Amino acid sequence: MAAIVINGKEVAQQIQEELADKVIELKAEGIVPRLATLLVGEDPASQVYIGQKRKACDRLGIISDHQTLSAKITEAELLSIIDGLNNDPEVSGILVQLPVPEHIDSVKILDAISPQKDVDGFHPFNVGKFFTEKSFSDMIDKGLFLPCTPYGIMELLKRYNIPIKGADVVVVGRSNIVGKPITMLLLAADATVTVCHSRTRDLREVCRRADIIVAAIGKPKFVTEDMVKDGAVVIDVGVNRLPEGLVGDVDYVNVSQKASAITPVPGGVGPMTITMLMANTIMAAKNQAMGNK
Ligand code: NDP
Repeated sequence: MAAIVINGKEVAQQIQEELADKVIELKAEGIVPRLATLLVGEDPASQVYIGQKRKACDRLGIISDHQTLSAKITEAELLSIIDGLNNDPEVSGILVQLPVPEHIDSVKILDAISPQKDVDGFHPFNVGKFFTEKSFSDMIDKGLFLPCTPYGIMELLKRYNIPIKGADVVVVGRSNIVGKPITMLLLAADATVTVCHSRTRDLREVCRRADIIVAAIGKPKFVTEDMVKDGAVVIDVGVNRLPEGLVGDVDYVNVSQKASAITPVPGGVGPMTITMLMANTIMAAKNQAMGNK
């Protein structure tokens, strides 16, 4: 039986409508969410991502201030721009589009963003906060900044009523941006999580045990139907540009015959990432205004 398609585009639109209402409410209180975006160099994919994020800001009534910086900018110059944004009371959130050129240490850059304006949720202070929080619902109640892609995946699972508590989840990929944080969020939601990577022995067998597979590998159509148990839920984070167009890390056509639910690429996790960035920016604006009172 063909799988339910988890329509990230539709869910993202619903959430964005809810967020747009929140922005109206905040503006009525004199709080104006503002996102500062920095792009270093002219990487075409990064330009597309920044463009999508700024368009989402426009739709929601969030002000976006963008700076494209020369690929030759020094690390010190970039740090000084971030420092200026950290100290600008009008700026709610700061986003540095990754990757940055090799001569710049991305860890140093992410560490320099004020944790209160860290809408990507990458600052070690914010990472430490959600890593040490036991329950996912407490993370939300306490208003922690969660990294946008993992946060978006949790929202998708929630809105499609996919049970997480007690589920066997296999995350393929252990990056700081996706694999590790989604593992922590799922653990906090009471899943039993196995994390796999390029050194995992017999990945196929490990994946076949999963009720939910999260694929964040960066290899086109890597997860094939023989790796998926009948009725499993498959979340495809991958974005790979092939001559045929964008494809995920999952062999969608064949896996969707076996899974009970699956995210498409495009239109699955991607729109959720941008939406959760908007949610974090709005939360940042609100928190800062409350702190300033
Ligand atoms: P990274 O390259 O940082 O990490 C990839 C992970 O996959 C690594 O942990 C790596 O293992 C693992 N891996 C690679 N080859 C294999 C293999 N043969 N078997 C098992 N595991 C393997 O990627 P990201 O996490 O940043 O991104 C993953 C994908 O998600 C990319 O396609 C990216 O474009 C996409 N993405 C999409 C987003 C969205 O909004 N939709 C947001 C962020 C990313 P090891 O650690 O051992 O090297």
